[in-house]
Amino acid sequence: MLAYVNGKFLSKDDAVVSVFDHGFLYGDGVYETMRAYRGKIFLLGKHLTRLKQSADAISLALPLPLDKIGEALNEALTVNKLNEAYLRIQISRGTGEIGLDPALCPAPTMVILTRPFKDYPPELYANGVAVAIVQTRRNHPLALDPAIKGTNFLNNILAKIESLKAGAYEGIMLNWQGYVAEGTISNLFAVKKGILQTPSLETGILEGITRDLVLHLARKGKIPTEELLMRPRDLLRADECFITNTTVEVLPVTVIDGQPVGNGRPGPITERLMQAYRSEVQHHV
Ligand code: PMP
Repeated sequence: MLAYVNGKFLSKDDAVVSVFDHGFLYGDGVYETMRAYRGKIFLLGKHLTRLKQSADAISLALPLPLDKIGEALNEALTVNKLNEAYLRIQISRGTGEIGLDPALCPAPTMVILTRPFKDYPPELYANGVAVAIVQTRRNHPLALDPAIKGTNFLNNILAKIESLKAGAYEGIMLNWQGYVAEGTISNLFAVKKGILQTPSLETGILEGITRDLVLHLARKGKIPTEELLMRPRDLLRADECFITNTTVEVLPVTVIDGQPVGNGRPGPITERLMQAYRSEVQHHV
């Protein structure tokens, strides 16, 4: 697999970044994860827009215009002869002297990594996964806004370590006020009395591209939706639950903190949205 580093496609051994890169030193950078289906990057425009928003939020000037970044992503698929693929683009502050001032780095570093997409085990979708509500709180939006898709991931990694210790597939973080926020790499949905609920953006979460599409598909399918401040006890009493992200799509959650969700099986609205998402993917050209 060839990796893109600042305009060149390089073999795994040659694709290296300086130890003085502020992405390495400080986690100073932004990124996007994408999926390509049948050789085409799904919702590329939305990912590019969010990349730009994240970069703007940390005062990072992108090294190329967005359309050129899109071209580089597509080229990464072509040179690696990929159809079903995972892609990650990362833009860091770049190489500079030690110190926090972004001006120490004259040029950002842009890296694109790809790999063939390996389907998740079907049992995960058939049976659902277990999640745990962790102690680590999601970053306060006034400290490090979760809406920024930044490469500084310690908040999420601490939550992940906890969820692994709990034997859970995903860890669910609460926000600074104790409302349900999101997973370490996913957004969360619950179904209560036929209403699809998800934490509102004011909770302090990443506005997931999959989250947005799922809300749109629900509305199209006449499923009532509600974006709200969700209390942990509401989540624990939900009839259905699922998580979303670009790679996993819609994944049922059947256990929360060791307790079954509803009857312990993926619920009907979850199943409908899983199907609707897959059909959306089928229709994208
Ligand atoms: N929240 C967090 C913290 C994430 O890292 C991700 C994955 N990027 C998501 C939500 C889901 O976002 P998307 O649907 O755009 O992949």
